Amino acid sequence: MMRPYNFSAGPAAIPAEVLEQAAAEMLDWHGCGMGVMEMSHRGREFLSLCEQAQADLRALLAVPAHFEILFMQGGGLAENAIVPLNLSRAGAVDFVVTGSWSQKSQQEARKYASEVNVVASAEDSGFTRLPDPATWTLSRGASYLHICSNETIHGIEFHQLPDLRALGSDAPLVIDFSSHVASRSVDWSRVGLAFGGAQKNLGPAGLTLVVVREDLLGHALPACPSAFDYQIVARNRSMYNTPPTWGIYVTGLTLQWIGRQREGALGGVAALEQRNMAKAALLYEAIDTSQLYVNKVAANCRSRMNVPFFLRDETRNDAFLAGARERGLLQLKGHKSVGGMRASIYNAMPLAGVQALVDYMREFEEKHA
Ligand SMILES: *Cc1c(COP(=O)(O)O)cnc(C)c1O
Repeated sequence: MMRPYNFSAGPAAIPAEVLEQAAAEMLDWHGCGMGVMEMSHRGREFLSLCEQAQADLRALLAVPAHFEILFMQGGGLAENAIVPLNLSRAGAVDFVVTGSWSQKSQQEARKYASEVNVVASAEDSGFTRLPDPATWTLSRGASYLHICSNETIHGIEFHQLPDLRALGSDAPLVIDFSSHVASRSVDWSRVGLAFGGAQKNLGPAGLTLVVVREDLLGHALPACPSAFDYQIVARNRSMYNTPPTWGIYVTGLTLQWIGRQREGALGGVAALEQRNMAKAALLYEAIDTSQLYVNKVAANCRSRMNVPFFLRDETRNDAFLAGARERGLLQLKGHKSVGGMRASIYNAMPLAGVQALVDYMREFEEKHA
């Protein structure tokens, strides 16, 4: 069965192999007589698959031993509150605003942190450029600095994480990596905490991943709900309350799929990173060489996961989307706040899917020239 190519920004496409395996195991997981959704989260079966998922994630993303991997609930938006509830005790909280998501994050933090500073913003450029870290005016003794390392709506990505120590700051870096987790390697030496919902690149909605450096545990504000206190979650190995068992299971299957990916001599996340760069290059090249399509994000920070683009003649938007649907190219409509189109090309999107989109874009442009 040939499935259409799904360019949804999230919840997003999941590899067919993963869905097939989940379907095959739906009623009976590994001969135990029950499906994963029906199991106790404290039973031997579920504990084994949860521990396997954490171990696979640690190995695939090379997460060092002094970081905890937490499986939580609430999504990226809840983390906008949970992070300051856990980490804002020391001093001001700094934000670099590069698009809608980091903007939302800094607004939410104001409810919990005594001082919030936007130390750099890309708003002047219409969120098409990353402010140069050398120009960031970091607060003295800040609790942490937050960035959204891939802005899903505006299509801007930090291809390299900022090195706060080189900027003279000891503050931990917090990254919202919801929309590019596991699409590339992470330099953990620069990170204090990373969070993301699973529904873009890892699995179904409902699971939130938090990777946090050990020394940042145990500083929660008194008002922090126990279920959201990182130290309590860590001590209970993500089983303080019932975790999103189905999300953990399907994410575990996706992690095994990632482990099987190969590009030449590369495997796992490195293979996907290579493939993702090739996919993004193909699509941006098609946009840049056309007369009809445009993307205004600077080349050094164009997202490899979320590619917003606009038709210079916006009266053709509906015709473009209808023709795409006919060819099995789904969910290309841009986010309502920016309009136009957006192709999200997460890990589960093969190069052939991007090629099919590019072929269609050229055909549409020629037909309407
Ligand atoms: C999707 C997304 C979120 C929101 O996640 P929810 O699970 O809806 O709370 C947060 N940050 C980024 C960068 C996202 O792409």
